[in-house]
Formats: sequence, structure tokens, C-alpha cells
Amino acid sequence: MRKKIAAGNWKMNLDLTQAQTLISELTQMINDEYSGSAEVVLAPPFPFLYPAHHLLKNHSRFHLAAQNIYTKESGAYTGECSAQMIQSVGASHCIIGHSERRQYFGESHDQLLAKIRLCLRFGIYPIYCVGETLSARESGKTFEVIQQQTEQVLFLLTEDEVRKIIVAYEPVWAIGTGKTATPQQAQEVHAFIRRIISEKYGASVADETSILYGGSVTASSAPELFSQPDIDGGLVGGASLKSREFAEIVKALP
Ligand code: PEP
Repeated sequence: MRKKIAAGNWKMNLDLTQAQTLISELTQMINDEYSGSAEVVLAPPFPFLYPAHHLLKNHSRFHLAAQNIYTKESGAYTGECSAQMIQSVGASHCIIGHSERRQYFGESHDQLLAKIRLCLRFGIYPIYCVGETLSARESGKTFEVIQQQTEQVLFLLTEDEVRKIIVAYEPVWAIGTGKTATPQQAQEVHAFIRRIISEKYGASVADETSILYGGSVTASSAPELFSQPDIDGGLVGGASLKSREFAEIVKALP
């Protein structure tokens, strides 16, 4: 059975005190109110990973993600963080290829592949993001874009490597815009991703791959999105900064 996952991407928000408060509130709410099987993955900015690790270490449902790593293992790359560094401060997951990184930092497929390989070398689960822009959707190119983003990164990995990847479908037009894809629009793309993974690696790999939806998920949109057969949870930005809202999103998972 593939995992259900609610992941919170905090982006470049909060200070340390606010981050600690958010974690304390979340652990309390989720421990008290949720008895399902989903994993909760929190992706704070780099400086909060280690303090977050301490706050989360006795809460086995919770896991930590970094939002990015650099493409090299170590060396003279001022300002960057490596896979080994994030692993050593408690991260078990890492978001790779978020559309904000593709858009503002020009990250290429080659770079994303290098980052995924480094994650895997250090035992970190990559959360690989794909998603089309509004103009791609409007010109009928959604599946073409998703196929390219999948083929040029994911499909260069071995079957064993792909088994460790979590995919996040995040339509760019829905990220931070308040515009959520309809459950039908999201399901259609999730089913497509699962189908092409199945064609390349076989049904058992595809069945085991968790595919998360991201793009303005809220407590009110989560239940219908998460009830779609190929949607295994969410990658949540804005709503993951509010403890009550994010706890309700987690509770929408079985
Ligand atoms: C994200 O950053 O991955 C995201 C989906 O953001 P939001 O939920 O704010 O749209």
C-alpha cells in the first residue's frame, strides 16, 4: 500500500520562535485529533531544520524535509547546502524541482536529476515536483509538459531509485494563487503520471508511488481532492503555515 502524505512547504516564512510555536501546535493537534495512517512531512527553511528535528524526534508520524539542496556533494559553493548537511540535521525528505525554483532560479532537468541522485545517496526521499503553467494548460499541452518533466528526470533513474521517489503534481497556475485544480483536473493528471510510471517501470512500482497534489490546497478543498483514487495526499504551501488549517488538511487523509 502506498503511503498517504501531507507535506507542508513553509517556503521563506517565519522566524525561529514562530516556527517552534507552529510545530508545537501541530504536533499537539495531530496527536490528539488524528488516528489515520498518513505521514506528515514539514519543510521549514534550512535554519529551522535542526531545532525542528529536536521538537519532532519523539513524534514518529512527523518527518522533516528540506526545500532544496545543491547539485554538488561538498566544496567551495558559498551559500549552498548539501544533501549530507540536511541529512545530518534530521531531514529525511527534500523537495526537488518546486516550480518556484524552476522559475526564479532557472533550475534545469540536469540539475534536478543531480539533486535527486544526491538525495538518494544520502538516504533522503526526494519529493519531485512537476506541473504545467497556465499557458501550457490553455494551449492543451498539460500532458506533454508533465511527460517531459517526468521523462527527463524521473525516467533516467533505475527502478530501485524510482521506488524511493514521491511525486508532487503542482500546476503552476494553482500555486499561491488561491485557484485550486478541480478534483477531476488533478485526478486526470495523477492518473496520467501513474500510467506512464507503470508503462516504464511496471504496475507494482506505479502502485507504490505516492503522488501528492499541490496548489492552494485548503482545509475545505482537501477532502474531495484526497478522495480521488490517484491522489495520495498534498504538498501544501500557504495553508501549512496555519496550525489549525494544516491539521484539518492532515485529518482529510484516511
Ligand atoms: C507549494 O508551495 O508547493 C504550494 C502548493 O503552495 P500553495 O499551497 O500556497 O499554493
